[in-house]
Amino acid sequence: MADFSEYKNVWVFCEQRQGELQTTDFELVSEATKLASELGCKVVGLLLGDNVKGLANEIAGYGADEVVVCESPLLKDYTTDAYAKVLCDMVNEFKPEVLLIGATNIGRDLAPRIAARLHTGLTADATHLDIDTKGYVEYLRESSTIDVDNTTFDWEDRNLKMTRPAFGGHLMATIICPRFRPQISTVRPGVMKKAAFDSAKAQAVKVIEPAFELSADDIKTEVLSIEKAANKLVDLIGADIIVSVGRGIGKDVEKGIALAQELADVLGGGVVGASRAVTDAGWLDAAHQVGQTGKTVHPKIYVALGISGAIQHTAGMQDSECIIAINKNETAPIFGVADYGIVGDLFKVVPQLIEEIKKA
Ligand code: FAD
Repeated sequence: MADFSEYKNVWVFCEQRQGELQTTDFELVSEATKLASELGCKVVGLLLGDNVKGLANEIAGYGADEVVVCESPLLKDYTTDAYAKVLCDMVNEFKPEVLLIGATNIGRDLAPRIAARLHTGLTADATHLDIDTKGYVEYLRESSTIDVDNTTFDWEDRNLKMTRPAFGGHLMATIICPRFRPQISTVRPGVMKKAAFDSAKAQAVKVIEPAFELSADDIKTEVLSIEKAANKLVDLIGADIIVSVGRGIGKDVEKGIALAQELADVLGGGVVGASRAVTDAGWLDAAHQVGQTGKTVHPKIYVALGISGAIQHTAGMQDSECIIAINKNETAPIFGVADYGIVGDLFKVVPQLIEEIKKA
């Protein structure tokens, strides 16, 4: 069996953009504290950038015991070469047992690169993480025909179980990485719950600033400028109220979106989401998409207007606190996950609903 005794702690790559940490960082650090308590180890945040040390307290406030900070003007903006080199150097030096990375655009670029360089595995887009306390060998004893008592295994018996949707969301695959370390997973933004901020923990953070080598010759690309999107992107993940539209708005798209926005407003500052049918048709930007290949959301109220409720859509919204579906087809699968359902034409039902809410 490979000797992984040197590999310790759960690490989280904390992504900052222009000096701002991402919500995903806090979700992952919070999740890492649960894994670390089962493994009996520490949570370590890894922060790369220029002049970013001041963010370490924020990371600690969500549960990191230590934050490893690598600062350099060459790390100011994300480039694959620079970040992959420094991250691999840190992993080789500190040997984390688990490394979590947000499945953001940056994380999706970075994770496969480093996994390949470190000769380890990667589970992309995980939606659930767990420690296999029972042991994989025990699992095989129960679920397979392998004679485990008379077999020599060359893998580790304490693993991170990473679960992700597979085959278009029709089944959930549980993946382990028993032969290599670190165990790396990218995790979908919005699926892990952010812990409450603990200011005492934030103050007690231990910052480690290891020496590392990075020169301009290591970087093949140069960031010339960063242009902010002209329209502020919709924040679905942080929203308490989401009114989503589906292909059912098709007979008058503009009116359908306006009705959804008005309903979101009267419910109390909500935002408009969409099914993939809507974003694929170009009726709304992809940033509005909820579901397996869109955002995972868990608002207090989720209203689905003219959405059938395909599994790839419900995978992204079924954990909402209260789901209200409006659909003219009473057999639409969305009613199976809804707390309240109205069978009817959304163009007739929604104006009445808005009227009633305004009166209340
Ligand atoms: P439809 O399935 O066409 O449903 C439209 C609904 O509107 C119907 O139920 C109809 O009864 C109702 N309707 C019509 N007119 C009215 C009206 N006037 N009033 C009220 N109701 C009305 N989908 C996602 O949403 N998110 C994803 O992230 C996603 N990822 C995917 C990933 C993969 C790999 C694959 C294969 C598919 C993915 N999909 C995703 C697509 C998904 O399978 C469905 O095709 C999609 O969700 C359907 O969108 P819809 O419900 O808006 O449209």
